[in-house]
Amino acid sequence: MALEVARVPVLSDNYIWLMHDAHSGETVVVDPAVADPVLEAAKERGWTITQIWNTHWHPDHTGGNEAIKAATGCLITGPAAEAAKIPTLDRTVVEGDGVTIGAHNATVLEVPAHTAGHIAYHMDAEHILFIGDTLFAMGCGRLFEGTAAQMFANMQRLGSLPDDTAVYCAHEYTQSNGRFALAADPENVAIRERMADVDAARVRGEPTVPTTIGLERATNVFLRARDADHLAELRAAKDAF
Ligand code: ZN
Ligand code: FE
Repeated sequence: MALEVARVPVLSDNYIWLMHDAHSGETVVVDPAVADPVLEAAKERGWTITQIWNTHWHPDHTGGNEAIKAATGCLITGPAAEAAKIPTLDRTVVEGDGVTIGAHNATVLEVPAHTAGHIAYHMDAEHILFIGDTLFAMGCGRLFEGTAAQMFANMQRLGSLPDDTAVYCAHEYTQSNGRFALAADPENVAIRERMADVDAARVRGEPTVPTTIGLERATNVFLRARDADHLAELRAAKDAF
């Protein structure tokens, strides 16, 4: 049975993802910045939250952990390397570990760079990727605790996933990323075409996430970087853009 994924927009540009498995009745919350809108969204749908999956320790990804757990008794999973910074974790995971929602499996990928212990949850059979703040639509996360070489390795790895992999990132940064992408790679027709779609969607107040690996392979200058030095140049230029 297919999984259903719902978007809960919160704060200025965060997306919290709710994933429901009708067969088992399980519902996972990915990176709850806050609690109340998540609890309301679940209630509206008649879903019972059974788990939280965190990608990294930043408060806009974990701030709702405690209150959601208090309200639901859910099990909270997150990166072992950041356990000290996420005191609400029940289960810590590392590269290659499996987490499940009903009969569906996700594999933990370690993707350090934005934070030192950042992880992603990859559902191989479903072609779903919860990537937190590592890969964005036409962008990548800032290098707060890691290196351009690490981010380049992440981009290589994520770029090798199937084109139709749905990428659920945690922020609506697409328009500003796209403006930079147009400046960084002005000859890229795919970026120009995508930006027309993105601008139109934003005028209508619509989200531009999830994206797909295939779309990012065509339009994401960080995913397309030649090497770590190239990615470092792009990241520095974007930080100053
Ligand atoms: Zn973050
Ligand atoms: Fe974030």
